[in-house]
Amino acid sequence: MNPSATLVSLSASAQELVDVSRELEGMLPADIVRWAVASFGAADEVPPYKSFLVTSSFQDATLSHVAQSAAPGIEVVLLDTGYLFAETHWYAENLGKTFGINVHIDKRNEPHLAPNGWQVDTDACCAARKVVPLEDALENKKVWITGVRREDSEARKSTPIVSRDIMRGVIKVNPLAGMSDSDIALYNELYELPVHPLREHGYTSIGCWPCTRPTKPGEDPRAGRWSGSGKTECGLHIS
Ligand code: SF4
Repeated sequence: MNPSATLVSLSASAQELVDVSRELEGMLPADIVRWAVASFGAADEVPPYKSFLVTSSFQDATLSHVAQSAAPGIEVVLLDTGYLFAETHWYAENLGKTFGINVHIDKRNEPHLAPNGWQVDTDACCAARKVVPLEDALENKKVWITGVRREDSEARKSTPIVSRDIMRGVIKVNPLAGMSDSDIALYNELYELPVHPLREHGYTSIGCWPCTRPTKPGEDPRAGRWSGSGKTECGLHIS
């Protein structure tokens, strides 16, 4: 790990987090996760690293592979909205088996929710099926590790590597924030990571099946999410 990355504590000030984010720019994503464990993990932190929540949409394997490389045995959670593609379930489970990644498919709220909310109010549906389950999952966690990248969208272009999610009371770490699409492709090729099976059918960003369509050549990669509605984010990464 880059020895110049300053370790900070859970009570770090906003300025300390800004400063260390700058230091972490350009570091390997696995080293950023190692830094996070060294900074924020409990002294006796052991797998599956109970202070940490790693969430992935499993539209690709990058974040889960990075997390597993840096902190073997760390749990990588797929929040199951009840509307994920069958291919996403298969892909996440297959990654777990093939690469020894500790994948957990979390269905915590699904049985209690009325079906088909997406047909009448996608914001309410995302709130109930994504945001509330995430916030439940973050209970008793100190650090949230995500796969958000600046190249994902205009709204994400200022994403820092580390910040405090004040609303949720956790430190948020985005080890892939600075990676471009070509960096991701190179990483996945280097480690021979499998591709989500819907990619070959034109899906460039993959969420729930009712709200995701394939994109056309030249379209923004996230144009297939909530297409035509003006909605661009589910609310997980807005705070
Ligand atoms: S993406 Fe669509 S189906 Fe999934 S939680 Fe949001 S509104 Fe509901």
